Amino acid sequence: DLRNHHPGVRSAYEHVVRRNPDEPEFQQAVLEVLDSLSPALERHPEYADQRVLERLCEPERQIIFRVPWRDDDGNVHINRGFRVEFNSALGPYKGGLRFHPSVNLGVIKFLGFEQIFKNALTGMNIGGAKGGSDFDPKGRSPGEIERFCQSFMTELHRHLGEHTDVPAGDIGVGTREIGYMFGQYRRLANRWEAGVLTGKGLEWGGSRVRTEATGYGTVLFTQRMLERNGKDLDGRRVVVSGAGNVALYSIQRAQQLGATVVACSDSSGYVVDDKGLDLELLKQVKEVERKRIDVYAERRGQSAQFVEGGNVWDVPCDVALPSATQNELDERSARTLVENGVIAVAEGANMPTTPEAVAVLREAGVLFGPGKAANAGGVATSVLEMRQNARRTSWSFDHAESELAETMAGIHDRCEEAAERYGAPGNYVLGANVAGFERVGDAMLAQGLI
Ligand code: GLU
Repeated sequence: DLRNHHPGVRSAYEHVVRRNPDEPEFQQAVLEVLDSLSPALERHPEYADQRVLERLCEPERQIIFRVPWRDDDGNVHINRGFRVEFNSALGPYKGGLRFHPSVNLGVIKFLGFEQIFKNALTGMNIGGAKGGSDFDPKGRSPGEIERFCQSFMTELHRHLGEHTDVPAGDIGVGTREIGYMFGQYRRLANRWEAGVLTGKGLEWGGSRVRTEATGYGTVLFTQRMLERNGKDLDGRRVVVSGAGNVALYSIQRAQQLGATVVACSDSSGYVVDDKGLDLELLKQVKEVERKRIDVYAERRGQSAQFVEGGNVWDVPCDVALPSATQNELDERSARTLVENGVIAVAEGANMPTTPEAVAVLREAGVLFGPGKAANAGGVATSVLEMRQNARRTSWSFDHAESELAETMAGIHDRCEEAAERYGAPGNYVLGANVAGFERVGDAMLAQGLI
């Protein structure tokens, strides 16, 4: 409900709903940002005069393409590929590729829109984009994955370049898939252009800490948020949803900071382990063997329990890190978390908390770190990778990790500062949206009507 908002905010939202009627995730992501921006438009009339919001909500370019491939039995499949190049006011388009059956244009637009503000918040020079396909990698052989990635890149390569558009991974796309896509790009372009993709393997242009970066960054952000309130992670009970790249490295960093991570989940259910999760076993099951989480519980024995189809937010905790996918933490789950005494929630995934759930948490005084701030460590470390590529160098783990820590502190403080400046101290949602918006909006104003 935008009734009491600036007319510029209302007209931008009406424009989005009218032009994107069947895209609920995109509308949700836009509303979440616009809801914070009225005070910024009141202070700076030029944003409304130049219709910066309407321009921001309309992608600069949207690419939709056919991805044909052949499975191991010789059958032909056709998937749909997407790349939404949303905004390049601050730098080349940057954002991940998601391979998941739930992918459609609206989902990619929501992710691309989020990415604009997230990338701006890092303080680095990158624009916002997202891409992917409705291809389902689950149960596919390595050969099928390789052929799919090659076909996907055969079309996408003409739109990319280290100064144009630089994809990375997201759900369903890790180092292996980036490798197949990098190989195909190199072959088609006849250029060894390291900076065209990030999340590469360490031997061919990748950066140390990129694999760990999103999860580590989320926990570093959470720790700083807690410290500002005289608390920390040491001795806390933490619940993480998901068991992918973000979840695994959030668990690792939280454990390093003295927390006990008692539960995580995948699409089959969740495991609860009161002694604390055994990360090595979890990595073996999820990363190496690519199996379901019940295999973890089976091998771990007594202390672990697998709950098939259960809701991981039923597990009592002090700190919750939703790190699976969009809208996975709803209003009811938020109430359960509050009843169980949660003190902080930080989003490792993109938009995992529904708007109603965010309202419940904020009203209860729970510290809330929105994804565009809390999970920005991944894309920030992608920029560190691009820097190393440009200088043809490779940093040590310690150096890359300290750069990540410094970046997360900067992101946290930018949110904190903007929230204070707009009279809402401690409101990281408002802080993240306003700080990200001001940086992109000012660049758009300075660069003329484009
Ligand atoms: N997919 C990640 C994100 O949601 C990383 C994007 C990147 O490194 O370009 O931010």
